[in-house]
Amino acid sequence: MSIRSQSILFTLTLFSLVLTSTAFSYTPKAEKVTDNVYAFIGPLGQRSEANDGLNNNLGFIVTKEGVILIDTGASLMGAERLEKAVRDVTSKPIKWVINTGSQDHRWLGNDYFVSKGAEIIAMKRTAETQKQYAEEQMQRMESFLKQRFEGTKAKPASKILSGESASINLGGQQIELRYTDAHYPGDVWVWLPEQSVIFTGDLVYVDRIFTVLPWSSVVNGQKAFHDLVKLNPKYIVPGHGRISNIEKAKKDCGDYYDFLAEKIGGGAQEMESMQDLLQQYNDLPQFKHLEHYDTIHRTNMNRTYLEFEQL
Ligand SMILES: [Zn+2]
Repeated sequence: MSIRSQSILFTLTLFSLVLTSTAFSYTPKAEKVTDNVYAFIGPLGQRSEANDGLNNNLGFIVTKEGVILIDTGASLMGAERLEKAVRDVTSKPIKWVINTGSQDHRWLGNDYFVSKGAEIIAMKRTAETQKQYAEEQMQRMESFLKQRFEGTKAKPASKILSGESASINLGGQQIELRYTDAHYPGDVWVWLPEQSVIFTGDLVYVDRIFTVLPWSSVVNGQKAFHDLVKLNPKYIVPGHGRISNIEKAKKDCGDYYDFLAEKIGGGAQEMESMQDLLQQYNDLPQFKHLEHYDTIHRTNMNRTYLEFEQL
């Protein structure tokens, strides 16, 4: 081959690479938690085309009869990539999906897995919150994912579990769900008593600071975190951040719930001024190692104050 045709070929190859590949910054890869239990640990930054909005943790359990997927990602294309990553571990069908919450990247991939024959399971209030926020979340996610949001449809969970907690057995796997109601109303955790693994949903964040949204509840979060400690799980798959144990979850998250509830919430109930409290606790060396501390901590205190002021 002449040098000229070689260089043309080279240019063409480069060109087709640019055309066919999105520059992904994150590719879901299953991390083994313990036998038959896996987690996808997403990046800590914001949703983007490059990560398909998969900037949260998800997971799956391989049972005798099929796979139980915990949450479905933020889009159809993201769901396809999750399925591919499950395929690296097992060829069994994804028969069930459990949604731990109603935030976009926990459930906007549901529709894809329904089309593949999966049943979508959630607690009653989780599914209700999905319906309530669907339209707003679809618009917001499209603005992050652009072309890569194409084909996504909001499909709230259809198999509804009632009660404040629920016990189910899927393919021989025992599963306990319980409301945490912390980040979003109707959020739950998924507890696997046999393996001592808990998928906390957005109750627990490690490595990064959790966000108190206008509809979040620090009161509920603190209570649920204390209940989680009582379960004494060996493995904690948080909503965001690395697979952890109790000590790390306490240090990065539980202690921060306690701080917000006791210092800011307590101050609000004592009618101390919000400005003074925000000033006094603006600089907390104990939590500074958490990513996004600088941009989120102050807002978290502010929203906690408003919640406790109403009590
Ligand atoms: Zn989240």
